[in-house]
Amino acid sequence: MSEVIVRNATYESDALRPLIFGMMEAMGGNEIRKESRVLIKPNLLSPALPRQAVLTHPSIIRAAVEYCLDRGARPLVADSPAIGSFDLILRMSGIRDALRGLDCECRPFRNSVRVDIGEPFGAIEIAEDAVRADFIVNLPKFKTHSQMLLTLAVKNLFGCVVGYRKPEWHMRAGVNRQAFARLIARIGRTLRPAFNILDGVLAMEGQGPGRGGVPRELGVVLAGCDPFAVDRVVCRMLDLDPEQVPVLKAAREMCFPTPEAELDGSLPAIRDFRLPRLTSLIYGPKFLHGFIRRQVLQRPVCDPAACRMCGECWKICPAGAITPEENPLCFDYDRCIRCYCCIEVCPFGALDTAETITGRIVRGAVSLILPPGKTR
Ligand code: SF4
Ligand code: SF4
Repeated sequence: MSEVIVRNATYESDALRPLIFGMMEAMGGNEIRKESRVLIKPNLLSPALPRQAVLTHPSIIRAAVEYCLDRGARPLVADSPAIGSFDLILRMSGIRDALRGLDCECRPFRNSVRVDIGEPFGAIEIAEDAVRADFIVNLPKFKTHSQMLLTLAVKNLFGCVVGYRKPEWHMRAGVNRQAFARLIARIGRTLRPAFNILDGVLAMEGQGPGRGGVPRELGVVLAGCDPFAVDRVVCRMLDLDPEQVPVLKAAREMCFPTPEAELDGSLPAIRDFRLPRLTSLIYGPKFLHGFIRRQVLQRPVCDPAACRMCGECWKICPAGAITPEENPLCFDYDRCIRCYCCIEVCPFGALDTAETITGRIVRGAVSLILPPGKTR
């Protein structure tokens, strides 16, 4: 059974440091050795002040770095911000000042490597720093998320998808919340951070995860070796059915073992936490959504040489977009909602996604705005 540690906390560093050290020890931090490469992955979404509760608090990041340095490890603090420059985020958040004097590299993710995260996504590009790290210390912020309801330990790992590839995946999985949730859950399961410490001292409620949310003091830090277990304990705390959290529902649907965690510490009962109104996953004005779905998102395509006409795809298609019994397979792309269920169920791997010409142009334009990183 996995264990989740719950502690009351403030950001006052004299008290926070021993608390984070104790949590790391309890999670098996003594496995971290001299020269271990440790990725410290906070939530560095966009430039914001600590009181806005957008980012993991600098005191928590500092304590985690100090713990790793005490073990003789080589910590790297990194993320792939959605908005704004990494430098501005460090300055505005106070993280740069908090880490001053510590022998710790702090920079955005650069290179990606392709990692097979499982069907229907296959190999996707994930930050090399995350894939090659000996240990990941995941430091999420406790926030609401207007697309995924909450962003906690598992969702924080989506930040390991680098630069423009992040909105690309948003768009690809975007028409279907559960498909996007499956992507996030698969990334979480693939990266398996050894240590997860959730900053809920100053959390965010309402229309998070950015500045549209409202800071809410909860005065709590949660830690555990299993990010899914940490997230489920948050549901308990909020008296929320985990099935309402798309990422946890996806994990259950994909049969990831998420045992009920044993608690170390007493869980505050928060019954009036304001959850967000869920919004569309597709960027841009509403009148463009149909166009984006049809013309920009990747389409399912069939390799006729691999297809055995078994019928699994047209049976599952919720939109009736695949003509039954037709060989080669024929898709009605105007009806297709891009849920990619057909790719997931095909027992012969005959289906894949293909980019549209418009999609390629949009991706090219986005890559000019956001740093792409290199892929190996
Ligand atoms: S599920 Fe795969 S093999 Fe079966 S009909 Fe569809 S594409 Fe062909
Ligand atoms: S063809 Fe059907 S199952 Fe496949 S992506 Fe489109 S809507 Fe989904």
